Amino acid sequence: MTASPTPTTAEELRGAGLRVTAARVALLETVRDGDHLGVEAIASGVRDRVGHISLQAVYEALHALTAAGLVRRIEPAGHPARFEGRVGDNHHHIVCRSCGAVVDVDCAVGDAPCLTAANDWGFAIDEAEVVYWGLCPDCSTGRSS
Ligand SMILES: [Zn+2]
Ligand SMILES: [Zn+2]
Repeated sequence: MTASPTPTTAEELRGAGLRVTAARVALLETVRDGDHLGVEAIASGVRDRVGHISLQAVYEALHALTAAGLVRRIEPAGHPARFEGRVGDNHHHIVCRSCGAVVDVDCAVGDAPCLTAANDWGFAIDEAEVVYWGLCPDCSTGRSS
């Protein structure tokens, strides 16, 4: 008998020191199944799984899971926050200026944190936040309005 190499969502929550609730399990699954979802989309995904949950409770659970490192929050300037389950790999995003579509981009060059600061002022840098801005294919073609 060998231990299962893949922990369940509940075990991951427990491992991160969080109290396990049905709402938190549903929220983590919703974020992981989704693609950079906003809070409203996450709330509706959680409701599909466990029934009614207030937006406030969704915010609180997102905060707890983000603080525990299970969920990553990205907040492109001028757009509402999005959440994703791909954490810890220092990947970046391309954001459409027009419609706000977000896609993943792997670490720009080499290993994290991608960029070498000209002067690190003695800081131990472990992350570089890079956002590429532009127009997505839908927005860059054939929009005549
Ligand atoms: Zn777009
Ligand atoms: Zn991402």
